[in-house]
Amino acid sequence: MEFIHKTAPKKKHIALVAHDHMKTKLSDWCKKHFEALSEQALFATGTTASKISQETGLEIEALLSGPLGGDQQIGARIAEQSLDMLIFFWDPLASMPHDPDVKALLRIAAVWNIPVACNPSSADYLLTSPLLQSQYDYLVPDYAAYQQGRA
Ligand code: PGA
Repeated sequence: MEFIHKTAPKKKHIALVAHDHMKTKLSDWCKKHFEALSEQALFATGTTASKISQETGLEIEALLSGPLGGDQQIGARIAEQSLDMLIFFWDPLASMPHDPDVKALLRIAAVWNIPVACNPSSADYLLTSPLLQSQYDYLVPDYAAYQQGRA
């Protein structure tokens, strides 16, 4: 696979997802980072979006609920290169009916070199990084070269 440079904008597009037992943790984390988060463009799966916007007042675009396709919508945005960061508090102590979607989301985030935090301490590091405040140059798969190689 060949790679090309991509620049993430100063204002990051951030997806938020939390499984049911993790939603309070994500909401508390959003309150802690309210100021930094309010300067970004936020997206979330359906139930996560309504809980967090109710509890914090943050403006969040709601996608479908995770088990009904919301995780896959976020994955699609990553593949389309319109998301810059994923905060995904998945539940390590419960199995989910949409486990394959969870795995697919983590996989596609790895493919497109998107920063991912799966727990509050990793998410603290991401949100307090100086890279959040500026454009960020990083490598993504070179799709044109990939297609050429397959033709
Ligand atoms: P939800 O989906 O925000 O609609 O609960 C999250 C998930 O389970 O993936």
